[in-house]
Formats: sequence, C-alpha cells, structure tokens
Amino acid sequence: MRNLPAEPSRGPASAESDALQLPSGAAVAVGLVVPIGERTGGAARLDLRPGRRPGVQPLVRCTAVEITVLGKSPAMPDAGGANSGYLVTEDGFKLLLECGTGVFAQLRTVCEPPAVDVLLITHMHADHFADLLPYGHALAYPYRDSGRRPRLLLPPGGRQPLLQIAELFGMGYPIDGVFDVEEYDPDEVAAVGPFTVRHSEVPHYVRTWACELSDPQGGRFTFGADCAPNQGLVEFAGDTDLLMLEATEEVVPDVPEGDVRGHMTAREAGEMASQAGANRLALTHFSDLLDPQVVIREGQAGFGRPVELVQAGARFRV
Ligand SMILES: [Zn+2]
Ligand SMILES: [Zn+2]
Repeated sequence: MRNLPAEPSRGPASAESDALQLPSGAAVAVGLVVPIGERTGGAARLDLRPGRRPGVQPLVRCTAVEITVLGKSPAMPDAGGANSGYLVTEDGFKLLLECGTGVFAQLRTVCEPPAVDVLLITHMHADHFADLLPYGHALAYPYRDSGRRPRLLLPPGGRQPLLQIAELFGMGYPIDGVFDVEEYDPDEVAAVGPFTVRHSEVPHYVRTWACELSDPQGGRFTFGADCAPNQGLVEFAGDTDLLMLEATEEVVPDVPEGDVRGHMTAREAGEMASQAGANRLALTHFSDLLDPQVVIREGQAGFGRPVELVQAGARFRV
C-alpha cells in the first residue's frame, strides 16, 4: 500500500501567481507576468518534481484557492507538454479540472493519484478527458490498495461514452469501479468539498460547460473551457477574481455560415474578460507554435490591462 496522500510541493507565497518576466526586448506592457519556469527555447518550462524547484521554499499552509497548471496544450500537445489539466486545491482538498493527454504523468509529479478528491470535466473532447484511462488503470492496479475512489464529475451525457471507450481500448477494468462516476447537473449550484461550483454552457463543437469554483472566503476562479466568444460567459464571469480563457485561434477563423465556431483568439478573450469586468485574465490552450509575446500582446489589446499566460507548472492563487 502506498503512503497517502503526498502533498504537492508548493511555491512561494509572495505573489498571486508565480512570475517570470519575459526577456528584455519583449514587446509587452509593463506589469506583464508569465509563470515561473525554466526558459527553454522561448517557452517557460518547469520541472514539477518535488524538490526540483531551485530557489523555491515550501509554503506554510495556504488556505487560498491555488491552481497548479499540469497542462495547457490545445488538441495537439505542445512539445514535451500535456493537454488541459489544472489541479485546484484549497486547504488540502484536491480537485483536478480536466484530464487530457499527458496530464496524468504531470499529476504524478505533484501528488499521488488516489489523493485527488474530485475530477471535473467540462466536455468530452480527448484533450480534456483522455488521461482518465491511464488514471483509471493506476487506481485499478498499482494503487488498488489505496481504498480511495475519487469522484469523477462528467458533463451530461459523458458517462456512457467514457465507459465504452475504456472497454473498447481494452483497459481491463470498469471506469465506474475505480471512480465514483456522476454526471453533474449544470443548472445546479453544487458544494464540492470546500468549493461552490457553478456551470454555464458555452458554444463549442460538442456540448461544453464553463465552470466557476469559489471558495468559502468568496474568491472566484472562472474557467471558460473551450468556446467561441459568447455573451453568456461574459455574464457568468462577471467581476470574477481570476478568469482563465482559452486563446486557441491565431486569427479569427473564416467560418462558413451555418458552421460552428469553437474557439477564440487572444484578443477576443481579452475583450470578453474586459466586458466581464474580470479582475485578472489568464490565457490558456494556445499552441507552442504561436509566439507567446503575440498572444500576450493581443490579449492585452483586448483586455486593456496586463494579462497572464498559462504555462505548465505555473501556479495561480485566488
Ligand atoms: Zn480543448
Ligand atoms: Zn474542445
């Protein structure tokens, strides 16, 4: 039996997000921050293994909502990166928001897999849920003696396809035997551990729900999931403390009439955050093929204020 749970290594408490200034010459506004990391080839990278953060001292107990980015890649994973995955913690409670390809390996660098209390999935695209399969394997076999069965909160209609995929792929265990699988009611405001969770449907290629996690102190983290620009999310995110929005598109796509738009540009994300009156905006789900300075510049042009870029290993506090 494994020792459980292992606390994730924690970063400095000196700022609301771990910050690394872009190199001099970056054409961005004063006040811009991007996450802590070792810069490799122009991208911020961070070794997540406990004890592998040079110069970082462990935090004393932190009761604020803390979001650790395990992966932020769009459908094509970044080189060496992972798809969507964000570990949201509050006073020891662990909620994994999204579990795309590569996320499980990153999760293992910050905590033991059975130590996660709840998993929450916004929509059934592989870059948001595919690593539920290796996660289930871990719970079914290497960690079978843990006695833990994390709650898995799927979007409406998500349960049956996931069970079928696990069976088709020959995983050899029932997903609903290792997770406590539920489909959430997106119209319901739910208490999930210390969090109050709300959902709002957003326009995407499949049915998708943005979500908000708020803590007992009132801090609000709003996650836009994958979506085209939309007024509903502006209203849902009104005055939020931290709005995390995708910025998948490099330019506004030319979508034939009648076809669906499913993503947005950094500038559109900035404009939505501005309309929502968000206190902070973090841009995510953009490819490493894009120039991060351009993503930031476009986001700031829309937001009218500095924005933060999401990178693997970054941590945000609300
Ligand atoms: Zn996605
Ligand atoms: Zn998607």
